[in-house]
Amino acid sequence: MSATTNSLSELHQLHLQLQDVQERLVRGPKQISARERFVETKKQEAEEVRAQHQKLKMDADARSLQLKTNEARIEELKLKLNTAASNKEFNIIKSQIEADEVANSVLEDEILEFLEKVDSSVAGVKSAEDAVSAAEQECERVAQQIAEQEPGLNSEAEKLSAAIREAESHLPATVGEQYRRLVQAHGAGAMAGVINSVCSNCHVTITPQMLVQLNSSHVIFCKTCGRMLYQQDAE
Ligand SMILES: [Zn+2]
Repeated sequence: MSATTNSLSELHQLHLQLQDVQERLVRGPKQISARERFVETKKQEAEEVRAQHQKLKMDADARSLQLKTNEARIEELKLKLNTAASNKEFNIIKSQIEADEVANSVLEDEILEFLEKVDSSVAGVKSAEDAVSAAEQECERVAQQIAEQEPGLNSEAEKLSAAIREAESHLPATVGEQYRRLVQAHGAGAMAGVINSVCSNCHVTITPQMLVQLNSSHVIFCKTCGRMLYQQDAE
């Protein structure tokens, strides 16, 4: 294996490693945002559950109030019953009392039903609030982990960049410009190994003449995809 092949292979590996480190640096904040969005979703859900619970309580309260009002009215009507001036008036008042009593019995059933719902919604509120706390803790844990990893990744990226600059200094001056343009366009994908005479980027077979050039340390570019090629067969 020629020195050029070695250095190009090494340069490609360095670019791939740097790309990996850079992707991890970019991924960190995205992971945090995803967790933050999850916390927001859980908060909204908890808010809805709390609002439902509140509404059930208000419905139960409104019916209790209605029940008390009706009971007071029944007491008033009962007093009136004693002072009814005629049989007809007596019967009217009596039927009003009966109607109010029926209404109250319906209200009592409804109040019981609402109070049961209020009780069971307490558990729902609790579990929704627990879900918010769990999501917040997880978000904090992930953020902390990413913050801890960041300095290490940054210094790794610096080291790799320095190693890349060093490896680049060994490139023949004639290909420097083309190499830089390729790196700008494709990053680590600027280079491709040739395995069994096939470009590993575009999977097209290179010509025998190119293979000869490659084996005699010439820097060549794939005629199909333009990548800078190096011999990878030896691995
Ligand atoms: Zn190719």
